[in-house]
Amino acid sequence: MAGKSILQKLAILADAAKYDASCASSGTVRRDSTATKGIGSTEGMGICHSYAPDGRCISLLKILLTNFCVYDCRFCINRASSNVARARFDPQEAVRLTLDFYKRNYIEGLFLSSGIIRSEDYTMEQLVEVARLLREEHRFQGYIHLKTIAGADPALIALAGIYADRLSTNVELPTDSGLTRLAPDKDARQIEGSMGKVKADLVEAKDARKRFRHAPRFAPAGQSTQMIVGADAATDADIVGKASRLYDNFRLRRVYYSAFSPIPDASAVLPLKRPPLIREHRLYQSDWLMRFYGYKPTEVMQATEADGNLPLDIDPKLAWALKFRDSFPVDVNRATKEQLLRVPGLGVKAVHKILASRRHRTLRLDDVARLTQSITKVRPFICTVDWRPTLLTDRADLRTMLAPKTEQLELFAA
Ligand code: SF4
Repeated sequence: MAGKSILQKLAILADAAKYDASCASSGTVRRDSTATKGIGSTEGMGICHSYAPDGRCISLLKILLTNFCVYDCRFCINRASSNVARARFDPQEAVRLTLDFYKRNYIEGLFLSSGIIRSEDYTMEQLVEVARLLREEHRFQGYIHLKTIAGADPALIALAGIYADRLSTNVELPTDSGLTRLAPDKDARQIEGSMGKVKADLVEAKDARKRFRHAPRFAPAGQSTQMIVGADAATDADIVGKASRLYDNFRLRRVYYSAFSPIPDASAVLPLKRPPLIREHRLYQSDWLMRFYGYKPTEVMQATEADGNLPLDIDPKLAWALKFRDSFPVDVNRATKEQLLRVPGLGVKAVHKILASRRHRTLRLDDVARLTQSITKVRPFICTVDWRPTLLTDRADLRTMLAPKTEQLELFAA
């Protein structure tokens, strides 16, 4: 490690951080202008995008404090047995880098994680020290997302929440058996213990601020977690069930899903290929159904196929509707908000617009078409004053008719 420049360390520690999706926007195409002598790269070191609590997209310096690690998680490039270049920032270096990037207007905040060095407490202390120096010594007002180290002293987690906007503890794998097999040094109870501690501190801080206006804030952007998809045999039904329990038990703002990426010199227990990226996308869609469309986890699970996985060719909302055709068609002029939210192709905004417009007039099919991206997807599931799908909803080939014709992700579909 001795003798590495800040830039060399940055190259190693930003690259090492890229596997963590818990801040994150993923799914973009990989482009790099190094060879073409053009400009820009989606893989450049250190900067990722995230969403602030007010919905703005912000740029974050995303680094590990160190990629040395005493744990040996099979899926991780930074595991103790991995033969990668190692580096370590001291807290002052991480602070200087953050401030330099910030002053140049490259970033609006910091996402900081770390391999485990010496002990969980020592590692957490180092992370907290970076946040403390930024906030207290440099009056840094930018966004800070700190990774909490499961098993660290609760007092350190409490301190982390005072300085950070968001905390996250990765559950890593959807099942306890997967965690035991692929991350033998990690303990599911310890991970959930840390998440429970953050939740308790969030609740306490919220209560205190109701009583005292100047009570300190605690992680105002809440807590999140990440699950790796496709590294073990867990099905989408397992993942949806786990995510739903985590939302309920720990008041999470987000569960991030990260498709497993094969790593160099991987353990033989890991799959050789990454799962299709569309699987990660379908899980995000199912997450939205639970958070914004009123679906219960069991209903999302009903959309899975015989192998317990969500279909890849159609989105989970359409998959559910095709399985429960007797819930359709719904009359857009009379249906409840909950019923309208079940219609494939109708997003939350379109449903609100339908509810607002139908107060003044009776809606026709053309009116609904103006509110949606594709009336073809909506038509079999609704009726209006001038449209009734008759046999369309029951057609055996409806799935083939509605499945997207190309491989392109339907990023903006409802
Ligand atoms: S704790 Fe596990 S996942 Fe985290 S850096 Fe170490 S080996 Fe990787």
